[in-house]
Amino acid sequence: MEEMMRITTWGTRGSMPVSSPARVKHGGNTTCVQIQSGCIPGNMVLVIDSGTGIFPCSAQYIAIKPRLAILQTHWHKDHLDGLTMAPHAHADHARVSVYGPEENGFGPTEAMKWLFQKPIFPREFAQIEHRFTCTTLGNPGNRVIVVHPKAGINLITMAEYLTAGTNKQLHLGDQWHDAAECMIITMYKTAHPDFAISYRVVENPTGKVFVFVTDHEKQAEHSKDLLDHVRDADVLIQDAQYTEEVYATRTAGFGHGTAHYCVEVAIRAKAKKLYLTHHDPMATDEDIDHMVEDAWWFARNIIEPLSLLKIEAASDYMKIEV
Ligand SMILES: [Zn+2]
Ligand SMILES: [Zn+2]
Repeated sequence: MEEMMRITTWGTRGSMPVSSPARVKHGGNTTCVQIQSGCIPGNMVLVIDSGTGIFPCSAQYIAIKPRLAILQTHWHKDHLDGLTMAPHAHADHARVSVYGPEENGFGPTEAMKWLFQKPIFPREFAQIEHRFTCTTLGNPGNRVIVVHPKAGINLITMAEYLTAGTNKQLHLGDQWHDAAECMIITMYKTAHPDFAISYRVVENPTGKVFVFVTDHEKQAEHSKDLLDHVRDADVLIQDAQYTEEVYATRTAGFGHGTAHYCVEVAIRAKAKKLYLTHHDPMATDEDIDHMVEDAWWFARNIIEPLSLLKIEAASDYMKIEV
């Protein structure tokens, strides 16, 4: 088994990619987060979302890991913008698996047809479709994604998972595998204008937990389902696009969070490390650094004086040990 789970945040900007001298430290790529673990087949790159951060990620791995698996949180453009130019989308030897939600008849296949379409892109999806596998995730509460080093990625029902028995032998592909060797990914529907999913990733061999909650609006009440979904995360990366002031005056209903809300969720769910993400395109490096300082202040002075929660801003190309 490889080293413990690691996360690389290839893109951490929200809404649209930005490039500017005042946005160098935290970066301007849109959402793409890579998960590395011994539970993932050696020839596979596993990412959440295909924002512009997927371009450097795919370029780094195309020669050594020809399989790209993408778990899409949703289909907003900032979470898809990098896929058209990702080398895995065009290399003859590469295979791409896209998993994501479906709403009103628009799911992974429709998203790919929309994205690779003349005249907004010179190649139609039909020309590359034979190397793609598109899988609709269905009701997030009733599905479990199981990743195994030999059996790859499998989507099973929650009922199948729960009835697998105490020794948890899971039927993946055409063979039985021990759940203790797997990475188990469960899902939560976030509060967002269109159907969006948060992923909780549990690396069974180590017990490490990573939760990615983006495009989730600040809520007045903390739902038990969300707290259970985030519970005991070793690493939580959560959407903190807006300051409290911007949220209160202009952006309520847009489907994004604030640093204060992330701190409340992280502390109540007993997460250990919180990384703020989906940075506002308007926010400079200085603004993001202030937001982190303010989040520390809020955690220690308002929520829990002795809080051990670590808080940082997620930045492009950051590597995080879970
Ligand atoms: Zn977004
Ligand atoms: Zn969105």
